Amino acid sequence: MKKEFDPRMHSAEHILNQTMVRRFGCKRCFSAHIEKKKSKCDYHLERPLSEEEIRGIEKGVNDVIRANVSVREEYLTNEEASDRYNLDRLPDDGADPIRIVKIGEFDACPCIGAHVNSTGEIGGFKILSSSFEKGVLRIRYKLTG
Ligand SMILES: [Zn+2]
Repeated sequence: MKKEFDPRMHSAEHILNQTMVRRFGCKRCFSAHIEKKKSKCDYHLERPLSEEEIRGIEKGVNDVIRANVSVREEYLTNEEASDRYNLDRLPDDGADPIRIVKIGEFDACPCIGAHVNSTGEIGGFKILSSSFEKGVLRIRYKLTG
């Protein structure tokens, strides 16, 4: 990530990614466009999701927001971090140590961006639309509240 994303939007992306991983066994989004008003994340999936599944994702993200989980960071050596995490989305600058951003016990992910201190600051999460084409699920979302 080169630019500073809106911390609320970007923190919601972390929660959405972990929600997708847990529910559908996919990987975190391989591409994301995070903007203050609207954002989108793309996932490799084998099938489209039903409206019910989409609403279930939305509710799952909102449950983590409402739980007001604290967001913390820890540092691992580059070697430890590359054993445990996928570092593909970090800048390729050989940084050491690597910063891991943890959302309570819910999620942990290497990241250099700015985040909220506690998930309650995000307010609310709404999925505006989703589409599925050629094995790619795109989720578009905004924040409320
Ligand atoms: Zn982040």
